[in-house]
Amino acid sequence: MNHRHLLPNEIDLLLDGEVGFGVSPLRAHADECADCQARLARSRRVVDVLEDLQHFAPSPRFADRVMAQVQIIEPWHVAVLDTARRFVPRSVPMRTLMTATASAVALALTTGAVWLALHADVALYSFNLAAGRARSALMDTAASVIGTAFGQSGLDVLRSSGLRGLALGAGVMVVAVGGAAFGLRALATSSRRSRE
Ligand SMILES: [Zn+2]
Repeated sequence: MNHRHLLPNEIDLLLDGEVGFGVSPLRAHADECADCQARLARSRRVVDVLEDLQHFAPSPRFADRVMAQVQIIEPWHVAVLDTARRFVPRSVPMRTLMTATASAVALALTTGAVWLALHADVALYSFNLAAGRARSALMDTAASVIGTAFGQSGLDVLRSSGLRGLALGAGVMVVAVGGAAFGLRALATSSRRSRE
């Protein structure tokens, strides 16, 4: 007979019906020791009562319902990566095409930016040239229109006042045309009313 009583985990081994090299001396001790036999019997009763308890199982959708209320905080870099990944095509040829297109666009933009940085004065000069040409074309058109409508005196006014005068004249014209249209409409309405 062993000189010591069984430890709780050794009693668990016997209750679980374990077999093996280490278990047989424990069983031999339990057979001969009244104290350990009593403890083993008590533990077996507890296990039996636990086994008789109703077994609870969660409903099939339990995990889904819980997870629906769990707020998962996604780090910003993961969100950005996921969004970027959504734009990347799945097929290899499309991915290659997209990479090639993106590279070409990036190259064109870089080249354009470098060219602009090196030739900023030229770009500004051509922009001013184009703007000046547009302005003189506008003045020429206005001059021919005003010359036809108002004769030489209108042209003199335009020449002395320039673009600002042209804008003022256009404003006056809009007001005059609007007023005339409004007056005609009022006239038409009143004549219709008198006819009714
Ligand atoms: Zn014992």
